[in-house]
Amino acid sequence: MREAFLPFCKPSIGDAEIAAVREVLRSGWITTGARSAEFEAAFAAHVGAPHAVALASGTGGMHIVLKALGVGPGDEVITPSMTWVSTVNLAVLAGATPVFVDVDRDTLMVTPETVARAVTDRTRLIVPVHFAGAAADVDPIRDGVAGRPIAVVEDAAHAVGTACRGRRIGAVGTSIFSFHPIKNITTGEGGMVCSDDAALVERLRRLKFHGLGVDAHDRQMQGRAPQAEVVEPGYKYNMTDIAAAIGLVQLRRVETFNRRRAELAARYRERLEPIDEIIPLRDPPYPATHSWHLFIVRLDIDKAGFSRDDFMARLKQRHIGTGLHFRAVHLQKYYAQQMGMRRGMLPHTEWNSDRICSLPLFPDMTGEDVDEVVDAIKEAIAAG
Ligand SMILES: *Cc1c(COP(=O)(O)O)cnc(C)c1O
Repeated sequence: MREAFLPFCKPSIGDAEIAAVREVLRSGWITTGARSAEFEAAFAAHVGAPHAVALASGTGGMHIVLKALGVGPGDEVITPSMTWVSTVNLAVLAGATPVFVDVDRDTLMVTPETVARAVTDRTRLIVPVHFAGAAADVDPIRDGVAGRPIAVVEDAAHAVGTACRGRRIGAVGTSIFSFHPIKNITTGEGGMVCSDDAALVERLRRLKFHGLGVDAHDRQMQGRAPQAEVVEPGYKYNMTDIAAAIGLVQLRRVETFNRRRAELAARYRERLEPIDEIIPLRDPPYPATHSWHLFIVRLDIDKAGFSRDDFMARLKQRHIGTGLHFRAVHLQKYYAQQMGMRRGMLPHTEWNSDRICSLPLFPDMTGEDVDEVVDAIKEAIAAG
């Protein structure tokens, strides 16, 4: 058994990130300013988006996107239940109704067909989730509602570096990225909305900072012009220059990170293949580049004879950390109790919610670490 605990995730922070933060701290300007603007431009160029807005979190991005789109009472928001809770929470907080669609059993993503079946006259927004670094099939979803007053906003929290049909996620439409420490690049906490909708972006720039009408960075004054006025009530979701300085360095390293993630994932796939109790995810059938945000397996609980939670505990005993992405949102306390959600409504989501487990995956891991995880899995299963 390995000696040191292997966490399921660890951000790669090097001397360059530390030097960049030191420089900002010493500069006399530490909140939103030149570094944030530079990070927005670099990120937009990376994904091929016309506009990018840097924010304090991905969740904050979803909040102001919902506000800008005017999503509220009477509106339906289509989303998977196999996702992080933030989108669903914010839709509910906005007074809208989340409408859950089931995911494909083996990709964990919504399909154009299941989404199309959930669209009604009240649908205002569809939020497909690019899962674990794989690309959801968003083009046909967008085409399916073209000409109707229905927005499509991609949850791209897992998709920094993901591409679909030769185009990076974020290049077209509106996508929300996250730079939480477990994501493919981090800014400590942070997020980015990329969009090709200039009017929406203008609104987001206001809403992210008190609803002020001016966003120009004033070189002499630093930050906003003092004369800026409130155009509408806004929030405070701006990204600091401290965070943006980290992001700029991380973005330069993202291709190296993702290449390493892909190597580790390939090694996992190969080593896990002979283990009958482990059910892999399937790659979607369309051409796409995976960014390997997470390496998720499903435990065949019937063959193994114990639960997924037990599996995670057994790996922890063997000094291997794991994650759970995600416990189905519709089965969580509030949604089950307040919205009358119950088991049986989303069979594929529920089946996965009971079996999924994220194995350690981060760029600084070694191939030996992967082998030790696989050995621990074999032992955990053999222990009966
Ligand atoms: C991390 C995550 C978010 C939220 O991002 P934050 O930056 O943590 O607010 C949203 N959706 C999914 C699927 C995520 O994994």
